[in-house]
Amino acid sequence: MNNGADLEAILSYKKRLPTLPGIAMKILEAVQRERPDLKEIGEILATDPPLSAEVLRLINSSLYGLPRKVTSVFHAVNMLGINTVKNLALSFALVKQNPRKDGDDFNYPQFWKNSLTAAVASRQIAECVAPGIAEDMFFIGLLHDMGQLALACCLPDQYALVMVETDQSQCAQQDAENQILGFDHMAAGRHLFETWGLPDYFGRPVSCHHDPGKLEAGDAASVQMSHILHLATLYMELFQDDHQSAQLGLIDHYTRMYGFADILDVDGVGAHILDKTRQIFPFFDLTLENEKQHLEIIDRARAELIHVSNNFIDQLLEQQQQIQQLRRQATHDGLTQLVNYQSFHEALAREMARTRRSKTPLTVMMADIDRFKSINDTFGHLAGDQALQTVAGILKNGLRETDLIARYGGEEFAAIFYNIPPDETIAVADRLRQKICETSIRYDRQAFSLSMSFGIATYYPEDNVTKEELIDRADRALYQAKAEGRNCCRIYQHRLKCTAA
Ligand code: GH3
Ligand code: MG
Ligand code: MG
Repeated sequence: MNNGADLEAILSYKKRLPTLPGIAMKILEAVQRERPDLKEIGEILATDPPLSAEVLRLINSSLYGLPRKVTSVFHAVNMLGINTVKNLALSFALVKQNPRKDGDDFNYPQFWKNSLTAAVASRQIAECVAPGIAEDMFFIGLLHDMGQLALACCLPDQYALVMVETDQSQCAQQDAENQILGFDHMAAGRHLFETWGLPDYFGRPVSCHHDPGKLEAGDAASVQMSHILHLATLYMELFQDDHQSAQLGLIDHYTRMYGFADILDVDGVGAHILDKTRQIFPFFDLTLENEKQHLEIIDRARAELIHVSNNFIDQLLEQQQQIQQLRRQATHDGLTQLVNYQSFHEALAREMARTRRSKTPLTVMMADIDRFKSINDTFGHLAGDQALQTVAGILKNGLRETDLIARYGGEEFAAIFYNIPPDETIAVADRLRQKICETSIRYDRQAFSLSMSFGIATYYPEDNVTKEELIDRADRALYQAKAEGRNCCRIYQHRLKCTAA
């Protein structure tokens, strides 16, 4: 099984990494500037006459209902705005490229049909609930499943197994990916977004588009974008699945859950998506199979939904919750609810890679309860469990939301600090140490206190150390703290010198 570290290695294998076509990349770079220059966008597009012609053909179609014929890309940018033209150009640049090689089983036309449907759906849902981000949502919808394409390109044999497993056990694709590859296309997608230099608020919804509940604590805007993208993917599946009535039931459910019920007409959005995709697919040489049946999908699904008992939808949701719970069990520790050893290692691999790109240092802290065995022996194992929960709470509350704290083993905890200047990390650890000392732990009419020792090591990208070496450094500092009397913090210095706090 691969782990988080491998994801980076696999996707950054340059020769195979799916790059955005050159022109798409140039457009993206130009629109991301603080003040995008309309003229520059026009000029970039003009360097690819067939692409410009396609964009103009679509812009002049009845879809846009423009009063006058648009004859130049520059004119189009002026009329429709940069975001719309960027999205159209990007759609053509991506969908029309055909990376198919011999022996490649990946179904590219189906992939792009789904992606365009998700793009149209994301934009339409956003039009209803947050019009200001409609074009951004089109963009995110179009690219949200690029992780699938990347994995299929980089690991063709293993990905073929994923497809077989998804088909045979009727499980969600991301579950088969996690099982076979050790990560899924959502993680791969986020990684690609990062590699392409796209802002993190685009990558965050992508990283959890089948399960927005998994979004790390975030701002309201990220949460809303994740909800929109999740609903869009449900619509996308509505038009490709066999169980349309159940799918429509899920869309109804999540529309209510996300608080969109009053502003979003579920069937109306569905009809709009069908109508728009029917109109734009031909521009991309994509065909709709059995168009008539396609147009009836929503009516039929709605009629069938009446006969599908509420129980069935409830069962489906319950199943999903069980899967989510299983996933949580795999990544979190049941006693303290902190992330576990495995997740810590995956996060550290990811963050060290990010650090290498951003060139900002990152600090690892290992912390271990002092003489915990005697607490168990004196107050009982359950009191010991209570102590572990209390300590976990103090560590979590004492760190910033963006820092990561994990239960590393029995009574050992590990943390990753981001963006804290290295010379301040020891003060942060010492505050935690003090707070733990001062806390009285209560269990079954007993009260006791405990202390903890801390070891810290900072990773500087130029150091060239591995994840294991970094953890070993923090561990050595921790042992030093234990050896020097416990209840103290030590920081690893190069050549094994530890400094005290
Ligand atoms: P030191 O200061 O050197 O770290 O001493 P220590 O006693 O903390 O270290 P040691 O490794 O000897 O003992 C750790 C104890 O932690 C032994 C083990 O039973 C206990 N422990 C590990 N996991 C749990 C748990 O989940 N619950 C409880 N109650 N105890 C646990
Ligand atoms: Mg997906
Ligand atoms: Mg201990």
